[in-house]
Amino acid sequence: MSELNMKERFLKALKGEKVDKVPVLSVTQTAIVELMDKTGAAWPEAHSDAKLMAELAYASYEVCGLEGVRAPYCLTVLAQVMGCEINMGTKNRQPSVTAHPYNDTANLKIPENLLAQGRIPAVLEALKILKEKTGGNVPVIAGMEGPITLASDLCGVKKFMKWSIKDKDSYNAILDFATDACIEYANALADAGADVISVPDPVCSPDLMPPAGFEADLKPRLQKFAAAVKVPMILHICGDVTAIIPAMADCGFTSISIEEKVKDLAGAKAKVEGKVTICGNVSSPFVLLAGTQDAVKEAATVALEAGVDVLAPGCGIAPDTPVANLKALVAARDEFYK
Ligand SMILES: [Zn+2]
Repeated sequence: MSELNMKERFLKALKGEKVDKVPVLSVTQTAIVELMDKTGAAWPEAHSDAKLMAELAYASYEVCGLEGVRAPYCLTVLAQVMGCEINMGTKNRQPSVTAHPYNDTANLKIPENLLAQGRIPAVLEALKILKEKTGGNVPVIAGMEGPITLASDLCGVKKFMKWSIKDKDSYNAILDFATDACIEYANALADAGADVISVPDPVCSPDLMPPAGFEADLKPRLQKFAAAVKVPMILHICGDVTAIIPAMADCGFTSISIEEKVKDLAGAKAKVEGKVTICGNVSSPFVLLAGTQDAVKEAATVALEAGVDVLAPGCGIAPDTPVANLKALVAARDEFYK
C-alpha cells in the first residue's frame, strides 16, 4: 500500500477500510495548558478568537504529534446561540452552561441567521484557517455538542429527565428542536472545512438515561441527525456505555468513541462489526493526566491489541495533561508497528 497521508489514513480507518497503521489523535477536546503557554493561545480567549482557536488546535499536531487538528474546545457554542447562559471558564476549566432559556416548549425558535450569531463565526473561521494550514494532509475535526445534550441544556437536565417520564409531548418537542439546530450547525462546520465532526453527547450516558430510553427516544434523533449531515461523524458518549453499544452502532454515525470504562473493548468491537468503527479508549483522567509515560504506552498497547480503529483518549483531554504523555501516546502507536 502506498503511503497514506494522515487525513487519508484517518478517513479510511474511520470507515473500517484497511490502513497501514492505526491513526493516533484525539476526537475529544485537545487543548492543554502546556500548549497554551507555548503558543500564547489560551483559554478562555481561544474559545472566541478564531486565530487563537486555530493556533491552539494546530499545536496538538505540531508539538504533540497527534495526527489531526480539532476545534473548538467546549460543548457550549450552539447552546449559547440557542439562548443558554454560559460561564466561559478559566485557563484550565471548560465553559459550562449556567442558565437555560426554556421552561416549556410553547415558543421554541431557532434564532434567525443562526450561523452569524455568537461564537459560530469564530469557529467557522478557525476551521478555515486549519484547513488552509494543514493543506489537506492532516484531518480537520470539528467538535460540537450532540442533540440530546443540547436539548437538556435548553430546558435544564432536571426538567429534561422529568419530561422523559411524565411529559412526552414536551420531551419530543425539545428533542426535535435541538436535532434541527444541530443539523444546521453541523453542515455549516462541514462547509467551513471540517473533514469529520466529532459529537460528544454526554447526556445519552447510561449514567443519566436508561438504555431503554436511549433506544426508544434518543436513537431516532441521533439517526435523523447523522443522516442529514454531509461529512462522517463520530458519536462520543461518556461513561460505561456497554449496555447501549449495539444501539450506538445503529445511529448512522461512521464511528463511535468510548471510554476505558467500557472494560471489554474487543467484545465491543465484535458487537459493532460491520456497522461502525471504534475510537478510544486510553483513560484521559487516570492515564493521560495522572499516569506515567510508561502507563500511557501500556494502555495504548492494550487498546491496539483489542483492535481499536483509531487510538485516542477515552474522553476530553484534561487541560493539565502533560505534552510528554500525549507524545507517549503517539510513540506507543509507532512502537506497536515496529
Ligand atoms: Zn466523554
